[in-house]
Amino acid sequence: MKQDDCIFCKIAGGEIPSHTLYEDGKFKVILDVAPATRGHALIIPKRHYANLYELPEDMAADVIRLAKKMMEKMTDKLNCDGFNLIQNNGEIAGQTVFHFHMHLIPRYHNDGEILKYTTISPSQEELEETVVQITK
Ligand code: 5GP
Ligand code: ZN
Repeated sequence: MKQDDCIFCKIAGGEIPSHTLYEDGKFKVILDVAPATRGHALIIPKRHYANLYELPEDMAADVIRLAKKMMEKMTDKLNCDGFNLIQNNGEIAGQTVFHFHMHLIPRYHNDGEILKYTTISPSQEELEETVVQITK
């Protein structure tokens, strides 16, 4: 399945060129055009799924397997010091391309704070309410 106006469908199908690190029947791994660090890459399924909610469970398992494989290889080859895997779902969560992708971001000791969020301070009661709300 392919969506006509989707940039990642076009990249996955080879209509738009990309710097490809890995490809198989289901996935392409490409360098991000606007990387946070050197080697920042994206795992993209060849079929169009808007986000993780839509991605079938077996594909989700394939993604994390591939992420581990890529992370190990990239750590070895790029000699990075750590790794972030990031996956945004929905505009509010920072998603800008609505074709599922997972960010693979090599981290280096001198790369600065590329990911920072402020924290909230819930009370014990609020934490308990949240557990009840999610689990009941
Ligand atoms: P999101 O914000 O949706 O999680 O991430 C989208 C990512 O796709 C961004 O990091 C952005 O730089 C990258 N991106 C957007 N358009 C292109 C493109 O045409 N080619 C490549 N390689 N990356 C893209
Ligand atoms: Zn698509």
